[in-house]
Amino acid sequence: MAERPQGAALLRLSGWGRVAVAETTARRPERIGEVASALWAAGPGGVIARGLGRAYGDAALNQGGDTILTERLDRLLAFDAATGALDCEAGVTIDDLVDVFLPRGWMPPVCPGTAFVTLGGALANDVHGKNHDRVGSFADHVRWFDLLAADGAVRRVTPDSDPALFAATCGGIGLSGIVLRLGLALERVPSPAVRLREERMASLDDFLSAFATRARAATWSVGWIDALARGGSLGRGILETAEPAPAGTAVARDRRGALPVPFDLPGSVLNAAGVAAFNELYFRRVPAGGRERSVGLRRFLFPLDALSGWNRLYGSRGFRQFQCVLPDAEAEKGLRALLEAAAQSRAASFLAVIKTLGGDGRGFLSFPMRGITLALDFPNRPDAPDLLHRLERITLDHGGRIYLAKDSALSPEGFARMYPRLDELRRVLAAVDPQGRFRSDMARRLRIREDVA
Ligand SMILES: Cc1cc2nc3c(=O)[nH]c(=O)nc-3n(C[C@H](O)[C@H](O)[C@H](O)COP(=O)(O)OP(=O)(O)OC[C@H]3O[C@@H](n4cnc5c(N)ncnc54)[C@H](O)[C@@H]3O)c2cc1C
Repeated sequence: MAERPQGAALLRLSGWGRVAVAETTARRPERIGEVASALWAAGPGGVIARGLGRAYGDAALNQGGDTILTERLDRLLAFDAATGALDCEAGVTIDDLVDVFLPRGWMPPVCPGTAFVTLGGALANDVHGKNHDRVGSFADHVRWFDLLAADGAVRRVTPDSDPALFAATCGGIGLSGIVLRLGLALERVPSPAVRLREERMASLDDFLSAFATRARAATWSVGWIDALARGGSLGRGILETAEPAPAGTAVARDRRGALPVPFDLPGSVLNAAGVAAFNELYFRRVPAGGRERSVGLRRFLFPLDALSGWNRLYGSRGFRQFQCVLPDAEAEKGLRALLEAAAQSRAASFLAVIKTLGGDGRGFLSFPMRGITLALDFPNRPDAPDLLHRLERITLDHGGRIYLAKDSALSPEGFARMYPRLDELRRVLAAVDPQGRFRSDMARRLRIREDVA
């Protein structure tokens, strides 16, 4: 029997980039048993689940409708220390897991660049980490999940019991229902540290040859690009590769930092000259011959978490992130075109992130494909939509796809071309949620549910 309905609050929520904003009726169930009541209480504007709101755009927004906040569903329910099998609620965060399990020699196998995401959010975007070549994406480690669907029934879904619903939920941006609880396989790590190798890359060519020769074979790898560099230095940056440090490796304090950004910085602080100076310093920080050292896993995996609320650095107008993946065969030409467009716009991107991805994900809307992914941040200036449009075109011209977790501007036509399994998703959604109760601003923008008004 469903438990008591939740009190509702009218909230103004935004994506992490603080550009997409929505007014919504929000409910925050305290327990799994209360989520169905929150679903029934939702009005005609439909409902969407929201974790920690780290998706940059409108994936977890539902203007004029309802939102179910999952952060109180944060209980660890069972753990098998022989196999690493974890049973927990969907509002548990990667940060919680690292806190509890890293001291015991276990880690979530897939960690995005911030630990402040819920497992429900990680599943709904089928997130990837700095080790995608080796371990795939988040859904590859999910053994089962409990899904509250539009009819109010809870279904336990495994990749074998209902492959279509599994694929519609992994990467499915919350449109198949609300993930309440899941079974995740954790991975053993020998120590809470990595042996990190940092090397300067003088250009994009250097990056591409390092990716082809050694970065894909490393346990973790990620590159930071100076997105303002042009000409012969286009694509210059730092490549980081890391291996687990042996048991007993001591590291300095590796807790998350709590240095807050207390207010919105004036937009003028992050002008092109300031960012160029920062990028130059970042590049020179690593000696010309490279360096190797042990650092904590947390610091390596989640460098931005040291500064809480860093999204305020871009000022009150917020910022945009663009992330795409290009197939290997098109990567060189496509990345060059993307970096040239970004540098030419002088849109003052901080360090861009470049990584390899190993292959397709399990979800109909999973982002990864075998290739190279590039992520760029820039302030939300009036010309930002034009730049995003140009980047979308270049991505399409090179057979790539844009990541929905980061997106706030993709066109429905571009989306349909980038995600060839969209019709499979639509068929499952039409069957499991015929009235389209699960809705979001992103789903409307990308016209995912064409079958419902
Ligand atoms: C600094 C930073 C670095 C990042 N780095 C990476 C990275 O390296 N790799 C990567 O893949 N991503 C990365 N991301 C993106 C982030 O991992 C995803 O957006 C993730 O989904 C956010 O989780 P959340 O709990 O905040 O979800 P939200 O942002 O609240 O929601 C995201 C989506 O998940 C859905 N959802 C949330 N909970 C549930 C649930 N219980 N049931 C069903 N649907 C649900 C929402 O409806 C929405 O569609 C990064 C984000 C930030 C801010």
